[in-house]
Amino acid sequence: MENCIFCKIIKQEIPSYKIYEDEKVYAFLDISQATKGHTLVIPKQHVSDIFEYDEVLAADVFSRIPKIARSIEEAFPEMQGLNILNNNRELAYQSVFHSHVHLVPRYSKEDDFSIHFGNHQSEYSAEELQQIQHTIVKQVKNID
Ligand code: 5GP
Ligand code: ZN
Repeated sequence: MENCIFCKIIKQEIPSYKIYEDEKVYAFLDISQATKGHTLVIPKQHVSDIFEYDEVLAADVFSRIPKIARSIEEAFPEMQGLNILNNNRELAYQSVFHSHVHLVPRYSKEDDFSIHFGNHQSEYSAEELQQIQHTIVKQVKNID
């Protein structure tokens, strides 16, 4: 897609530090390097976010991730863990609208990455959770 920075990276119109490439997927160092080895995995096909994937594209992208994750771990054995995340839409911190999966190696609790999961368990009754469950499951059944 025109004016997409990641499409330009795939086409080598903009330089990148390539980690992996095949006919479907491209992986390269995130320029911000939140932690050492922070890598982005992207489909070569331009899709803006997870809502545009079909099953085949999802399989293409996600099937490459374990191999790339293991490569990062082999490269940096001091790595203690790995966060994998995918931001979708602006409210969810997406800033480049060519879908990408972040691989963020973790070295210590003090490295420059954090994620916060609030715990709101006490605010939901069993009935409310069941209602939420049913509302979503009804839609899951509509997915072809
Ligand atoms: P998002 O915020 O959309 O989840 O992540 C976009 C990521 O793309 C950011 O972490 C940012 O550092 C990275 N990024 C933006 N522009 C470039 C670029 O030109 N080259 C590389 N390698 N990474 C980029
Ligand atoms: Zn693109």
